[in-house]
Amino acid sequence: MKRAALSDRIAEIVGPRWVEVDTAALEHNVRQVLGLLRPGTELMAVVKSDAYGLGAVETARAAVAAGASWLGVTTVEEGLELRRHGLTAPILVFAPPLEAEAPACLAYGLTPTVTHRDVAEYLARAARSLGIAAPVHLKVETGLGRLGLEPAAAVELAREMAAWPEIFLEGVYTHLATAGLNSAFVLRQAKAFEAVLVGLEDVGIRPRYRHICNSAAIVNHPDLHYDMVRAGNLLYAQVSGRVRDRLGLRDPWQVRARILQVRDVPKGEPVGYGADFRTSRASTLAVIPLGFADGLGIVPARSPRRFGELARAVTKLVLSGLGFYRGHYTVEVNGRAVPLVGRVAMQMAIADVTGIPGVRSGDEVGAPALRRVNTGARLPRLYTRDGVPYRARTLAGEITFDEWLGAEG
Ligand SMILES: *Cc1c(COP(=O)(O)O)cnc(C)c1O
Repeated sequence: MKRAALSDRIAEIVGPRWVEVDTAALEHNVRQVLGLLRPGTELMAVVKSDAYGLGAVETARAAVAAGASWLGVTTVEEGLELRRHGLTAPILVFAPPLEAEAPACLAYGLTPTVTHRDVAEYLARAARSLGIAAPVHLKVETGLGRLGLEPAAAVELAREMAAWPEIFLEGVYTHLATAGLNSAFVLRQAKAFEAVLVGLEDVGIRPRYRHICNSAAIVNHPDLHYDMVRAGNLLYAQVSGRVRDRLGLRDPWQVRARILQVRDVPKGEPVGYGADFRTSRASTLAVIPLGFADGLGIVPARSPRRFGELARAVTKLVLSGLGFYRGHYTVEVNGRAVPLVGRVAMQMAIADVTGIPGVRSGDEVGAPALRRVNTGARLPRLYTRDGVPYRARTLAGEITFDEWLGAEG
């Protein structure tokens, strides 16, 4: 069935606003990243924060299908969601579990991060009561100033843990602060990390997984790939256009909506909360069911009223002309970029579609301005392969498209 013919079905399932994720593009990106790695270096797909908004479960499925051998999340709760949906790949939890979470973490085969001694101790207690020997990864703090053990303390704890039967050191890692933008700082952290590895080796410890690279470092520091890399942004093509082109990444994601109403209004009409935008001509306005609660962080067009606002507007114009500022003032209607006008509300925004022929309620709108991490968690996700829908995740749960069609037909 052609996408056009499915349009009504899609509307029935997901309603007037949705996040569309092309898992074929995700899989493509996973393969492109794998292509950057030496044989033997593994890829962890970072699917924390609902896979940066794309949907953790479906993204994890795609990543594993395309060759990622590990998944990474921040919390035990996020790991449990993946296990509940049948994902069996190893899952590293970046944040240390709370003591209360330790038994569930280990019982469901999530791999915890040890960031300090207490965590190691209560993980060992939990493992003992479960009667298992649990793998853990040790996090070294090398410059991000966040979670982890100082290098010397990391070596010391690893040495102690080597005598404990309940947990064993499967991995050691650190996290970079400068995302590859500041090479000198990356190398400083890498040096501190390397010193820990040497310290461990001196006492006879060589963990199976040593890992340090996030997306930027995967691209900029191939010499730091070690045994595994942890990629988030790269898989979701959230990188500069230059890197995206060089690696041949595809954009797997867009927010879409349907116009709820189209109105012709005269010149001088107030639009939106605060009535601080007025139409400067007879206009056609389209109401769109997306707002700031959905992550629509678009700054709406309105006439600058104070000098400061005017100066800012001019600066942004100049910077965007030079390519330094990506102002998000437009959505796409029938293939044309149109400005939002009036204030963006909680779940509504208004686009100026004056002069675009044939715009009707029900027409689709693309909102390229939404950032993944800000995308409202309650927006339905529609999963497609090369544009053909096969599954949706809505507030009602997960729906397979074939099932839906079958149930209806
Ligand atoms: C988020 C995160 C990553 C992935 O970072 P990207 O820049 O999105 O690739 C890797 N490691 C840890 C510990 C993280 O928290």
